[in-house]
Amino acid sequence: MSKLRFHALKEVFKHKPIHIEENVRRSEIFGANVFNESIMRQYLTKEAYESVMSAVSKGSKIERSVADHISTGMKEWAISKGATHYTHWFQPLTGATAEKHDAFFETIGNGLAIEKFGGGQLVQQEPDASSFPNGGIRNTFEARGYTAWDPTSPAFVYGTTLCIPTVFVSYTGEALDYKTPLLRALQAVDTAAVAVCKYFDKNVKKVNASLGWEQEYFLIDSGLAMSRPDITLTGRTLLGHSPAKGQQLDDHYFGTIPNRAMAYMRDLETECMLLGIPVKTRHNEVAPNQFELAPIYEEANLAVDHNSLLMDVMDKVAERHNFKVLFHEKPFAGVNGSGKHNNWSLSTDTGVNLLSPGKTPMSNLQFLTFFINTIKAVYDNEELLRAAIASASNDHRLGANEAPPAIISVFIGEQLTRTLNELENVTNGKLSPQEKTDLKLNVVGKIPDVLLDNTDRNRTSPFAFTGNKFEFRAVGSTANCANPMTVLNTIVAKQLIDFKAEVDTLVSKKDMKKDDAIFNVLREYIKKSKHILFEGNGYGEAWEKEAKKRGLSNNKTTPEALKAKVSKKAIQLFEEMNVMNKIESEARYEIEVEEYVLRIQIEGRVLGDIARNHVVPTAVRYQNILIDNVKGLKDIYGTSFKKLAKEQLNLIEQISNHIEGINSNVTKMIEERKKANAIDDLEKKANAYCHIVKPLFEDIRYHCDKLELLVDDELWPLTKYRELLFTK
Ligand code: ADP
Ligand code: MG
Repeated sequence: MSKLRFHALKEVFKHKPIHIEENVRRSEIFGANVFNESIMRQYLTKEAYESVMSAVSKGSKIERSVADHISTGMKEWAISKGATHYTHWFQPLTGATAEKHDAFFETIGNGLAIEKFGGGQLVQQEPDASSFPNGGIRNTFEARGYTAWDPTSPAFVYGTTLCIPTVFVSYTGEALDYKTPLLRALQAVDTAAVAVCKYFDKNVKKVNASLGWEQEYFLIDSGLAMSRPDITLTGRTLLGHSPAKGQQLDDHYFGTIPNRAMAYMRDLETECMLLGIPVKTRHNEVAPNQFELAPIYEEANLAVDHNSLLMDVMDKVAERHNFKVLFHEKPFAGVNGSGKHNNWSLSTDTGVNLLSPGKTPMSNLQFLTFFINTIKAVYDNEELLRAAIASASNDHRLGANEAPPAIISVFIGEQLTRTLNELENVTNGKLSPQEKTDLKLNVVGKIPDVLLDNTDRNRTSPFAFTGNKFEFRAVGSTANCANPMTVLNTIVAKQLIDFKAEVDTLVSKKDMKKDDAIFNVLREYIKKSKHILFEGNGYGEAWEKEAKKRGLSNNKTTPEALKAKVSKKAIQLFEEMNVMNKIESEARYEIEVEEYVLRIQIEGRVLGDIARNHVVPTAVRYQNILIDNVKGLKDIYGTSFKKLAKEQLNLIEQISNHIEGINSNVTKMIEERKKANAIDDLEKKANAYCHIVKPLFEDIRYHCDKLELLVDDELWPLTKYRELLFTK
């Protein structure tokens, strides 16, 4: 083993699990660092408290004078928690979270100082964040973005900073972040769903979208991770031969969590508890050193914030434990990558989960309504949904030979398939009483029991119904959930509006009963959107062919997939639902295409560097050893040396071939990069990176990985897969 790798590995053994003192109940510390309802009651005047609560539930405006009271209370509480600074915490389109800390501390002359935090500072800030990607929305002369308080996500203290969740908008009001369109989409689905709920229950006043994400990640010793320039700079390994043992034995999945990882998780969970992130589940994943963490689901906006915050906290806690968290969708070739399932549902303020089959005929019809409308929404917007999860890193899962495929389909299980089939065949027009009873009771009534053993079987589906929620499984592990959640809630909102219009028309124009009208519209929806339903193996080639016949899209790469974001239909949809205007849609598209280019560009540079400056020199050094050996054999044995040196000569030649393979391909890649960089049109540039530059990575990697197998282990400078994946 090389000295470099040896030292890195030796360090690992110094990294013993950190002992975590834990004699408090989790429920006692839950939310201790959050400015939540009960804390607000304590620290705010009655008027201020009610004002925040009404802003949360009804979206009403908070008066400036009241804001001053709130900020004062918030400051007092934060200081009692050890905070010295405050920040507007937001999610710019870089995907990370952003913060700029300001001290409460202010001087008041005569050498005196006080702690101050006014309503103005709470409500709005101008962070001068002109370097965040904005897709050309903010011109330089108005290079100002504003952050504005989002009272629906509570403030929290992290470390010594009071963090205030905010939206980030331009001077002219366009969204520059993930949160703004999400809040608008949640508003849209709330309004649309409440209107439909009124068919079933007049008391419903609010519908909340819920989200329960499941975060997958790898934990790698930080010393080992640091020894790999590719991991440090791109979050994944760009080369590395697969180890003799991978995940084929399935001995990691749900196995005992290694001690060090366990200590990390416990520490992380404590931090999450303090921050009010309701983490609940932890387990090993399929790949070695891969894990998953999942919370109890929450209202979607809060859940999105909590996932962003969690990713941050995971990084920070990992530092204490000498770990590096890899969030990348595919950190290692040949072993499973990571995703972030988004479990989604809609529920009413009367306590009903609209995607949970009910016990009464009426609630079952309500369930069917929301269930079928969601399927229709996904069918009509499958390309847009695919676009919502497109990224350079997620391309390694979708459309590669890994779960789930790039084709969006919906899995609903056998029982519900049968229900939909029966519904499809009901009479056109008015239903017989028998039909109605059958549908509402006999068929649907069976669902809850049968579903239990029926739902989660199909792991290959990108969008699966799992008993009382849909699970969007194609979301990438690095993604900000706001993006897919914005799209999903927007398309469902639009669908529900259309549905209501159709039902109302049948009732008023055709004199149909409400029930009959609902059944009739749903029946038509099933007929129209049947093509999106798929229960088979999503990974097979057969499905690709079948999906093509059905007219479903199969956009395997990000540049292809993203286009759906700026289709006429998508722009209209977002405008109509008041989620994004045309400028905002186009800006986001531009940002994402550009990000794709930059990511591939960086990977290309890093790979070129490692191949030329690490791998080739190492191979030459080893080849020289072999050459010396051959020369020695010749000195000793004279002309008969050839027989003895046969393998060495063969190796020398192989090494030369691989060196040639690396150098010619790196040269080619650099040339193609230059050509691509010279292209002005962003879309064409992305295509060049995708279809010309990126494929060369594979060729370069092939030769590097072959050399890894040939070259003396003692010389090889890069930490190997087996060391990265199996060191505990
Ligand atoms: P899995 O087999 O995928 O692990 P689980 O039943 O453990 O399934 O649930 C996974 C996630 O689904 C959890 O994060 C949970 O909070 C979330 N979930 C459960 N019910 C809902 C719901 N109504 N809305 C959104 N998410 C939900
Ligand atoms: Mg899941």
